[in-house]
Amino acid sequence: MRRWLGEVPKMMAARGEKIWMDGHLVDFDQARVHVLGHTLHYGVGVFEGIRAYPTDAGTAVFRLAEHVRRLLTSARVYRLPVPFDAPAIERAIVETVAANRIVPAYIRPLVYRGEPALGVKNSTGKVSLAIASIPAKKYLGDGSESGVRAKISPFRKPHSDTIPSFAKACGNYLSSYLAGLDAQHDGYDEAILLDAHGYVAEGTGENLFLVRDGKLYTPGLESDILLGITRETVMTIAEDLGYPVVSKLISVNELLTADEAFFTGTYAELAPLREVGQHAIGTAVPGPVTRKVMAVFAQAVHGEEPRYARWLTPVPGTKAAAAPTPRAARR
Ligand code: PMP
Repeated sequence: MRRWLGEVPKMMAARGEKIWMDGHLVDFDQARVHVLGHTLHYGVGVFEGIRAYPTDAGTAVFRLAEHVRRLLTSARVYRLPVPFDAPAIERAIVETVAANRIVPAYIRPLVYRGEPALGVKNSTGKVSLAIASIPAKKYLGDGSESGVRAKISPFRKPHSDTIPSFAKACGNYLSSYLAGLDAQHDGYDEAILLDAHGYVAEGTGENLFLVRDGKLYTPGLESDILLGITRETVMTIAEDLGYPVVSKLISVNELLTADEAFFTGTYAELAPLREVGQHAIGTAVPGPVTRKVMAVFAQAVHGEEPRYARWLTPVPGTKAAAAPTPRAARR
């Protein structure tokens, strides 16, 4: 057996005080589901990853409305009738962040069928929503700043004819999991998955951009990616900075010969790519365009850039808790 199949990946510390379940905040250790729940067996569930950041005005959730909209779109793809509408889910997320008093926070809403209901075609069981808010870490560790080493994965993205990539569904992550473990085993920080036709798609939980001659390029939906909210955020910031952005098919050679490249994602934020396989990207240090976009992104999420204030939803009652992180420490 290949060794990576047996290895345990690094885990994030999933600890908060309360988890919101179908309208109630329950103690972290009581947030349980039945072992015969449909989602556990067949992967038919959908979820989101959202971040809350400290700002001078208190804790703020970044791009809350867009994440909730994507959650509900994903749920529609899998015929999961969510028993809460968008405003109610937004309120519940804000309530969960406030209750846990953790900042920066990683917020995980999950739509699932958790009652005993075996049978893959069983679509009648109760649909539930749970929301956790746990400490956010740097997903790609030190590489988030100095540059990530990634490997082109032998595992590819499933074609959207098989599993629609724009729905953020639990089962989608089987290929990410295999790709991530394989990259980790080979000593890389992250995997880059190709689409079914061999074009560059995305990381295990990140979208990917490259920079060439002052223009940004990123794979589009035709490469079976998740349409990332950070991807869209970066497209807006880059265009506002005067860098044109093109979404298109990207070959492996285009990536390897790029001036710069970086990952984007809620958990990874912006992480420069230093090497892909044995190839240095550009000069193997975070390039000037990447650094500029990263700097504006950091200002936007921390409420320091008024033109992007619309992306932040304040969490009432958190002003004192959110203040201290010095700028130098959080970048
Ligand atoms: N691709 C995949 C497969 C992901 O899981 C994620 C994380 N949600 C992303 C891209 C980035 O999406 P976002 O910027 O919305 O977090």
